[in-house]
Amino acid sequence: MNNFIKANNLVNENSLIKKFNISVSSTEIISKKDLSLDFFEKSLIIEKLLEAHQLAEINFQSGNITKRGFASNVCTMDNLWALGTNFNNTRNEISSVCGERSAILAAYNSSLINYMQTKSRSKFNFKIKYICMAQATDIDKIEKAIVPCEDCLAWFNTSRYFDDNTIIFSFERNDCKLCLKALFLDELLPFRGKLTSNKFCEDKKIVYSALAKKIADEKNINNSIILKLVKSTYESYLKNNMSIFSNQNISCSILANGKTYISNKIDWTKRWFCEPLLNCLECALKENSLSTDIIAVCYFGDEYSGDDFNDGVVSIKSLGRIRQKYATNNTLLILNFDNFIQVITIGEYLPFKFIQGYKI
Ligand SMILES: [Zn+2]
Repeated sequence: MNNFIKANNLVNENSLIKKFNISVSSTEIISKKDLSLDFFEKSLIIEKLLEAHQLAEINFQSGNITKRGFASNVCTMDNLWALGTNFNNTRNEISSVCGERSAILAAYNSSLINYMQTKSRSKFNFKIKYICMAQATDIDKIEKAIVPCEDCLAWFNTSRYFDDNTIIFSFERNDCKLCLKALFLDELLPFRGKLTSNKFCEDKKIVYSALAKKIADEKNINNSIILKLVKSTYESYLKNNMSIFSNQNISCSILANGKTYISNKIDWTKRWFCEPLLNCLECALKENSLSTDIIAVCYFGDEYSGDDFNDGVVSIKSLGRIRQKYATNNTLLILNFDNFIQVITIGEYLPFKFIQGYKI
């Protein structure tokens, strides 16, 4: 009853739901997992998506340098909402923050300011419950749901402020009808929280996903090649003395154009480093230029798991970059777990590829 009253208050004359003429009850929810939203919660999420859409539009109209408008409305576990849009000082990644991260920062700052003003403070607890992603595209022209880029996914792959229950909402059109698409974080990041090992032994079992096995057979990649790659990466890890500042040593190897390229993580400071996958790729590019074709990627190193979060061995950001060029969803990804070596594909590790809105 209480929710019904609140819902009536939400869908009022001034609401965006009314302005955009959206029927909450007939808006279908697309979700692979069980998700029950009462009428109020569903109305609230739609309203917040529309609010984010309007901010994305304004950001675009204001002359955003990338000529792309995105915005997100995020909700914390304490039901605090915050809105943010893509922030671009330049077109490149150096001074750009996506709408999702911008909104998360807005929520974090508001939560912390509230916490600062609280007299009797318990532990500061900041967790993101919902991320409602919108874009500048007209609501009646929306087709596929938008998904976070791999830089945002690298944030969501951490566990201090996000968990598997964090839900990403966006609009999607299905059978000409506007729907509410819901993706749980573990659908975007199925290997989230699965920590690899920094121990190696030669008799480890090699486990392939069905797709990875098919691709490995097609490319003539057998167990002995996989094992040799993991062993070489492990040996490189043992020799690497350039990861001492962060105390997180990582090595990476790639199989490309019939050759193995291996490189290590190189720390500048505790926070700044050269990522090993991109270091490997640079070696391959020097020899093969634009025809560089990555068949397999192998990561080996230390998962940092000192507190209630970990930094991760696999760089989601780098996988996102190589998947735009030089690698594909079908590139094999080799991970060293405690009792076995896992062979999957990049597409299985990151099922949703961010689509750039311009020709690359
Ligand atoms: Zn992003």
